[in-house]
Order: sequence, then C-alpha cells, then structure tokens
Amino acid sequence: MAAQILDGKVMSNEIKAEVARRVAALKERGVTPGLAVILVGEDPASQIYVRNKGIGCEQTGIRSVTIRMPEETTQEELTRQIGQLNDDPTIHGILVQLPLPKQLDEAAALAAITPEKDVDGFHIENAGRLLNGLPGVVACTPKGALEMIRRSGVSLSGKEAVVVGRSNIVGKPMAMLLLRENCTVTICHSRTKDLAAQTRRADILVAAVGKAHMITADMVKPGAVVIDVGINRVDGKVLGDVDFDSVKEVAGWITPVPGGVGRMTIAMLLQNTVEAAERTLA
Ligand code: NDP
Repeated sequence: MAAQILDGKVMSNEIKAEVARRVAALKERGVTPGLAVILVGEDPASQIYVRNKGIGCEQTGIRSVTIRMPEETTQEELTRQIGQLNDDPTIHGILVQLPLPKQLDEAAALAAITPEKDVDGFHIENAGRLLNGLPGVVACTPKGALEMIRRSGVSLSGKEAVVVGRSNIVGKPMAMLLLRENCTVTICHSRTKDLAAQTRRADILVAAVGKAHMITADMVKPGAVVIDVGINRVDGKVLGDVDFDSVKEVAGWITPVPGGVGRMTIAMLLQNTVEAAERTLA
C-alpha cells in the first residue's frame, strides 16, 4: 500500500493559523512581534527564502524588517547591525540569512545575536541547551520535521531513528530531538559504511544530505516514517534526498519535496518569533 503523505502545506497552514491567533493576543497586550532578517549580498536562493519569510510574516501579522547589506560588508559592519537589532525592543527575532559572502565568519555572526532573539536556534547557547535537555530556541528545520513526525500519529518512544546527515543546523539537532523523544538514534554521514544497512533498520528515517534521490526504496524499512529534508536544484526542478516515487511504495508515511519540510521550516520560524515576543511579557 502506498505511504500516507505528510503534507507540509496543510500542516504549516495550521501552525500559521495558530501563530496568527497568538500574534493577535500579543497585539491586544500592546506588543507586535517583530522579525528582522539580515540579507548580505545577492545570493538568488537566499532572496527567495527571505521573500517567503516575509510572506509568512504578513500572513500571521508579524512585523517583518529586511535589512539588505552589500556583498562587500565587513564583519564589523555586520556585528554592528546585529548589535543594533539586539538593542531594539521592537525586534523579537533576528535571523542572519546563510550563506554569507566568503569574507564573513558565519559562526561569529550567529554568536553576535542575543540568544533570546536567535529565532533560527543556531546560537551555540541554544544548541547547547538542546544537548543538555534545557528549554531554549530549537532550530526551525529539525523542529518542523519533528512536528511532521508527531502528526503522523506514530509513537516515538523506543523506536529506531536514523538521521542521515550530521550538520549543526539539521542533522545533529534532529538527532537530539529524536533522542529527547526516547528514540534509539543513529547518525549517519559520508564516512558511514553500508548506509543502506543502517537506514533499513529505521522506523523513523530522516534524510538531510543534499544529494538528489539518494535514498531509494531498497534502503527503507516497510512502514517507516520517511522525512525528506533535502532541497536539491536539478535542471530547474527542486528534488529531495529521497526518491519519492519508489519510496512511497514501501514507507508508511513520507514527506514530499517541495511541499514538505521546507514549508514547516518557515512555520517554525514564525512560531519561534511569536514565542520570543511572548517571553518578553512573561
Ligand atoms: P550539509 O552539507 O551541511 O550536511 C550534509 C550532511 O550529509 C553531512 O553530514 C555529510 O556528511 C552527509 N553526507 C554527504 N554525503 C553523504 C553520503 N553519500 N552518505 C551519507 N551522508 C552523506 O547540509 P545541511 O544539513 O545544511 O542540509 C542538508 C540538506 O537539507 C540540503 O539539501 C539542504 O538544502 C537541505 N535543507 C533544507 C531545509 C529545509 O527547510 N527543508 C533547511 C536546511 C537545509 P559529512 O559530515 O561526513 O560530510
């Protein structure tokens, strides 16, 4: 039987509606949540992401501010800009759109954001909080992916979860979230021997690699929940890391690309922003 589709459009619309209600409640208390996005340079994919984030803000009533800085921006100028936003009480979330031009140090830029306003959840303090099981801002993509798994209705405790990819922004936080849900977690990467043997054990399989259609049906356990984080542009098309057409015949649940995790990432960014604004009133 073909897998059930975990529809990122439907789920993200539900989350946005909930965010909009929370924004309205905050406005009644005199607070308009504000999200500042810093975009350095002209990277075309980044322009699209920033535009989509702006649309999400509009849909939910969040005030969105986009700060465009030239390609040749220096670290000092970027740090100064982040500092101004840290001090601005009308801004509750700050996001530095990655990748940055090569003269800029991404880690230093992320570290300059005050952790309370780090709505991307990339600040080392928030990453450390997740690792230590403390409350903090969780990175949007793994947070959104977990929400999709939850909405499949599959219970997570005791399940085998395999995450392919170990980046700081997706793979590692995803593994930590699944561990927090009491899964038995395996993290795979480019040096993993016999990847298919690992992925075939997975009740929950998350692909966050960046290689189009690398997860094929023979690598998937029948009935598994398969979450495809990958966004790969091939011949003008956007493809996931999972070979959707073949895997959907084996999996129990599967996320499409586009219309899957990417949608949830933006919804989680909006949710993190409204939560940051709510914390200022707590
Ligand atoms: P990175 O390039 O930072 O990490 C990729 C990971 O995949 C690395 O850990 C790498 O291993 C591993 N890897 C590479 N080749 C293989 C292989 N053949 N077998 C097993 N593992 C392999 O990517 P990101 O984590 O930033 O992103 C992953 C994908 O998710 C990309 O397609 C990206 O565009 C997409 N993405 C989607 C988002 C969304 O909103 N849907 C948000 C963010 C990212 P090693 O560490 O050994 O090099």
